[in-house]
Amino acid sequence: MCAILDPGCLSRRLTWAVVLVRGYAKESGDTLGMMISEDLLQILRCPACVSGPDRRPGEDPGRLELARDCWLVCTEPACGRKYPIVDDIPVMFVKTGDRFARIPVADLPVPPPKDVVD
Ligand SMILES: [Zn+2]
Repeated sequence: MCAILDPGCLSRRLTWAVVLVRGYAKESGDTLGMMISEDLLQILRCPACVSGPDRRPGEDPGRLELARDCWLVCTEPACGRKYPIVDDIPVMFVKTGDRFARIPVADLPVPPPKDVVD
């Protein structure tokens, strides 16, 4: 067992989330990236806005919008984090979202850089 806010633990959980998303995509036949499924968009949330010190108020914070077919943009006004979809996998790490938070949607690289997974 590990603490909810332990960064290492959270990172492992997010890795599992990515693995699960990948499995979901394969099973359902969805092609993420170019056409991320509506179902998946309904499930995914900005990890910074759903837990920890930055958790936003409300019952369902951190909803994401698809932008430019390969980015997930947090809809919370005070957040602005953007998560790339690389090789059909949404990269949902807070530090990755931080990196692109201040870049306007129109200036996001398409396709996203591959080094975001490191
Ligand atoms: Zn957010």
